[in-house]
Amino acid sequence: MTRLAPSPTGALHLGNARTFLINWALARQNGWRIILRIEDLDGPRIKPGAADAAIRTLEWLGLDWDEGPITQSADLTPYAEAMRTLAARAQVFPSALSRKEIEESGSAPHAPGPGSGPGSDAGPAGAESRFAPELRPPLRPIAFDPHAHTDDGGNPAGWRFVTPDRDVPFRDDFAGPQSFNPHRSVGDFVVWTRADQPAYQLAVVVDDHRQGVTRVVRAADLLDSTARQLLLYRALSSTPEPTHTHLPLVIGPDGRRLAKRHGDTRIDHYRDAGVSPQRIVGLLASWCGFGDPGAPGPMTASEFAARLDLATIPRDPIVFSPKDDQWLRQ
Ligand code: GLU
Repeated sequence: MTRLAPSPTGALHLGNARTFLINWALARQNGWRIILRIEDLDGPRIKPGAADAAIRTLEWLGLDWDEGPITQSADLTPYAEAMRTLAARAQVFPSALSRKEIEESGSAPHAPGPGSGPGSDAGPAGAESRFAPELRPPLRPIAFDPHAHTDDGGNPAGWRFVTPDRDVPFRDDFAGPQSFNPHRSVGDFVVWTRADQPAYQLAVVVDDHRQGVTRVVRAADLLDSTARQLLLYRALSSTPEPTHTHLPLVIGPDGRRLAKRHGDTRIDHYRDAGVSPQRIVGLLASWCGFGDPGAPGPMTASEFAARLDLATIPRDPIVFSPKDDQWLRQ
């Protein structure tokens, strides 16, 4: 079982579409079932209507799924249940410290850590200050009650995971052997936010486990999150752990992650301009090392799935250039 897990924080662009297409194609090649999961726990960043739009866009491109859509916000019980387990095992603690207080504590000289993943309460920039063990309260088994702990102003505390100081090695099916030590980079990371919602790292682990997801395919910006997620699997005694395939990002000519500054690369924008899904899939195929790199030809999603080979996907980030945009609009 694998999952397509769009975050309805905006419209799908060529970069997201490439990841979803590869994920879908690997599933269809290998007989993995696919669940569509809408990851809408990212509070203020969620855009009304974006989930429905993402579903329509995926279908328009020729993708399908066997289960779902399942929407994370529809039922928070499974996440709270996991928090009760972690709290009873003294693996999480409430902390009302603000980001500013953490930064100013002086015990976090390496802040900010690497990206904290979508949906954490670290904000859209994705940079979370390192939360050092010195900032922890005494650890003990407690009851998980998100409303019982507040700061002086009565604002709810967030909950953090007791991150052990150790390397977490894993093998990535595309990126090869990896190892990260989240204790050194982010420290005790957030698992339940001050807005009283599960954070991305917890939600993804709880869902992947309960939904039987054994194959995680996603973009390389989440590579270092994998170590945090594996620590949560172990703290929750959840088995089996999934295998991981992290795909290179699509970037703009300036070397930065594909975004609005590179022009309008939303799939819906091309659709509205009369571009066919086959043309988009053809371009994405040329970014995967097949199709003719100089002159991609249109192809359907099924043809893409028949031809995709992980071994031929370029290992470096793909650079989206104005030529690609011109080719799509021809
Ligand atoms: N919802 C996340 C995103 O759109 C993906 C999370 C994951 O694949 O673990 O970036």
